[in-house]
Amino acid sequence: MAIDTIRERLTSERGESFEVHNPADGSVIGTLPVDGPERVREVVARVRANQPAWEALGNKGRARQLGKLRDWLLDNQDQIAATMQAETGKVRAEAASEVPYIADLINFYGKTANKLIGEQRVTPHSPLMRTKRLRVQYRPYPVVGVISPWNFPLILSLGDAIPALQAGAAVVIKPSEVTPLGLGELVEAWKREIGGADVLDVVNGMGETGSALVDEADFIQFTGSDRTAKKVLVRAAETLTPVSAELGGKDPMIVLKSADMDKAVNAATWGSFANSGQICISVERLYVEEPIYDEFVKRLTEEVGKLNQGMDDEHYGSEVGAMTFPPQTKIVEDHVEDARRSGATILTGGRRLEGEGDWYPPTVIADVDHSMKVMRDESFGPVVGVMKVRDADEAVRLANDTRYGLNATVFGKTSEAEAVARRLEVGTANVNDVLTGFLASDVPMGGWKDSGIGFRHGEYGIKKFVRPESLVITRFGQKREALYFPYTEKRRKLLRRIATFVNARDWRRRLRR
Ligand code: NAD
Repeated sequence: MAIDTIRERLTSERGESFEVHNPADGSVIGTLPVDGPERVREVVARVRANQPAWEALGNKGRARQLGKLRDWLLDNQDQIAATMQAETGKVRAEAASEVPYIADLINFYGKTANKLIGEQRVTPHSPLMRTKRLRVQYRPYPVVGVISPWNFPLILSLGDAIPALQAGAAVVIKPSEVTPLGLGELVEAWKREIGGADVLDVVNGMGETGSALVDEADFIQFTGSDRTAKKVLVRAAETLTPVSAELGGKDPMIVLKSADMDKAVNAATWGSFANSGQICISVERLYVEEPIYDEFVKRLTEEVGKLNQGMDDEHYGSEVGAMTFPPQTKIVEDHVEDARRSGATILTGGRRLEGEGDWYPPTVIADVDHSMKVMRDESFGPVVGVMKVRDADEAVRLANDTRYGLNATVFGKTSEAEAVARRLEVGTANVNDVLTGFLASDVPMGGWKDSGIGFRHGEYGIKKFVRPESLVITRFGQKREALYFPYTEKRRKLLRRIATFVNARDWRRRLRR
């Protein structure tokens, strides 16, 4: 469906609205109505009413419907990528990277759901409970609210909606007000072209719309800044609504002297500047061992100098796009100025580009230390600081010297790099590659410390959307079970002897009267 049709339909209804801009040139590319608390309540109530039938489809039935979404996405990936490129200002390669991730996730959870959240048969560990059959069934939170940021409009919204839907929940997404269009197109297609069950919808707007969703949903999956996460957690406390939060990072990359220099330089360049550094797991701090530091910095500076910044199209060709969200550019400028004032050396970039749109060049900064914002606070933009370290121990100490703990990278001889990676306080540590840990959907991904509460991917990524219901089913018994009243001396002493016999791990205690 054309994006114009969606906008027309969405804007035909009511009052307050907000504009969506193309950050590459500042033009207005959409106007959407703000969904207030009343509308959020209606949407949640509607999908809630449809959720039991969705749950009743079972894992296989739901996987079949989500498979249709995968097929639609694969058939329409160019159109979706074009919309997301316009609203984010990213280069085509990065806008186009979202659909393959979602398609893979649909396949992964479709295939593994039975194993991860299917009914479990449990054998009682105690002989005293052998009179029971134990089963655990995993039942979804009826409505999951997904609140997402602007840097990857599909990955960070649908990427959580997929396991929630596969688990049998209905899902309402509050996309970032900065980038709601690509997701809006897709959800319209789910309803009107794919004929998907009416258990997936979107509400649009700013913080107030997000808050209203927190009030109405049974579980909140939040991705965004730790600042907003705290507001969400406070609000969710009012209704005792559980929250899983994927937050910011200040990811380190350690380069040991045993590293393959070419690969480490290429990886540092990509890891720092892919998506203009607007990835929660972007490399923001580089720690390089002394013997290779000078060579590494020289090569990194050369490599970054070759990057092609600009807007491309379906023929690709650009590597670094625009900044998506103007306030983020201000943060980047502030970090770079703070470093400059404190005596750091700006090796590339370092100033916002003049002209239309919001552009900041790839910026490498040397002679930094941990007193500077660029090494301490999340920049979330195309800037990386490089520091010389004496040895691996100093690199580990500095890498862990942060309130964040999302993701990290180590380059070096595999055994040495792995040993260093195991000492890092992060949710994911990559050895001899960068960013790609996110694509390993088989294993948990999430933040330690201020980088989050909860995990996505793997077993954690779907189990968080379900609640265990344990069924304790009596196979046989007596009309008056041993534990029931009356508490006579004879019955209680017999019970105590049986319990001691079962629990003791030596014959002396077992047989003691
Ligand atoms: P943000 O926290 O400003 O906003 C995130 C979402 O929360 C938006 O949809 C916003 O409208 C909504 N929101 C704002 N106030 C709210 C409130 N009071 N109640 C409910 N919802 C509210 O974040 P952002 O600027 O959109 O995204 C950038 C941040 O996201 C960075 O810190 C980045 O590191 C983080 N991020 C984390 C991950 C991860 O997986 N860990 C991935 C991408 C981005």
